[in-house]
Amino acid sequence: EQISIGVDVGGTKIACGVLRGEQLLERHVQPTPDTGWEGVLDAIAAQVKALQAAQPGARLIGVGVPGPLNADRTRVKFAPNIYGFTDVPLVDGLRERLGLRIVLENDAKAAALAEAHLGAARGTESSVYVTVSTGIGAGLVLNGRLWRGRHGIAGEIGHITVMPGGPVSGAGLDGALEAVASGTAIARDASYALNRDVSTAEAFSLAEQGHPAARRVVAQALRHIGTALADLQKTLDPEVFVIGGGVASVGDYFFQGVQRAADEYSQGFAPVTIRRAQLGTDAGVIGAALAARHG
Ligand code: BGC
Repeated sequence: EQISIGVDVGGTKIACGVLRGEQLLERHVQPTPDTGWEGVLDAIAAQVKALQAAQPGARLIGVGVPGPLNADRTRVKFAPNIYGFTDVPLVDGLRERLGLRIVLENDAKAAALAEAHLGAARGTESSVYVTVSTGIGAGLVLNGRLWRGRHGIAGEIGHITVMPGGPVSGAGLDGALEAVASGTAIARDASYALNRDVSTAEAFSLAEQGHPAARRVVAQALRHIGTALADLQKTLDPEVFVIGGGVASVGDYFFQGVQRAADEYSQGFAPVTIRRAQLGTDAGVIGAALAARHG
């Protein structure tokens, strides 16, 4: 049975675990340091060492990060939602700290692998995994294989322009999808509309209770996500979409809003089939551990 370690670096937390066969053991989570990339690599290395102390056989290590990578997957170009994470030599930096080979993957691509192999897209030929969290990203599995594109950035849908002149994303692009529909965007817009600090979770619960301003903010974000899926259906025509990430985990209200917009904007073409991520918040860790095995 293969055993590998997966690390999922997020804008707010770093999660990691040991995957034995198809089973996740020893899951650990800690906040993402906001002291720049060296601090993040130190934290990853410490977590990996702790996991290896508990599971000495685990020597294959995969790391998923929330940003585009260079084409040979040794460096992170930048992580739009992590402070100071620009042009990071992650593979070399972790090899120095751990003395082991590291496989680097984009977080959404890692989760896409996990959902395609072990989750909601199991058995399909083509699927698009979308994570809606601090940022928005996607992983495309086409003809059973992860599609990276010529430069490795395929699936960077958080930065497609859906509202030119609109709010600016962490990558500096105005009107980007994640600047209008991510968890960060929902919290920002709900806080502005209600004139106090409102978290994404609270925005959703107020919307569900019928609070008019929260409803408008959430509805707008879900509409942007749904129309993006309809656009992707017309572009790639996948069998299914799988949506995960912290924002999607609120459940029914999220999925109904997204499906409604997707249906409206795909009418006459082909249905947009949306499934919920099955591996939940573990998808990133499991996917990184799978990526380590695939090399
Ligand atoms: C990044 C993607 C990432 C997504 C979700 C975006 O801001 O550009 O690479 O997959 O956030 O974390």
